[in-house]
Amino acid sequence: MLRFSIEQVVWQEVPGEVSLAYTITGCTLGCKGCHSSETWDANRGTLLTDEYFEQRLNQYRGLISCLLFLGGEWQSTELQRKLKLARRQGLRTCLYTGLDDIEPKLKAELTYLKTGRWLPERGGLDSPTTNQRLVDLRTGQSLNHRFIR
Ligand code: SF4
Repeated sequence: MLRFSIEQVVWQEVPGEVSLAYTITGCTLGCKGCHSSETWDANRGTLLTDEYFEQRLNQYRGLISCLLFLGGEWQSTELQRKLKLARRQGLRTCLYTGLDDIEPKLKAELTYLKTGRWLPERGGLDSPTTNQRLVDLRTGQSLNHRFIR
């Protein structure tokens, strides 16, 4: 089962979208300098049951345009199910992963995908030297330029 440590509405993570975001616990990548190492323990956080999730989607109906998962690809089947529920409500979907790629089945449920682990010397999406990429999967285009100020 997926567990989340943070649930919040965010504006900056996916350009042009108002996203309901869940930080999923249990990341195993162990990036040096990770800003959320307290979320590595998969036993921490609140269970994201279908019931609770659908209730939240109903509450936010009309207020959000996108559903964002920060991690969770390590439970791909479960994540796919949640993404399907969000898409059924007409939401766009995004995953932030530290991996360089994910399995096609999971990708098929996403509108946007951010890839690449955290490398402090390269920086995040707002850095011109970053190894990370945020792609609009509908067009295959990188949205990184939207983060550079
Ligand atoms: S992928 Fe993200 S959450 Fe996971 S260790 Fe790296 S920076 Fe931390």
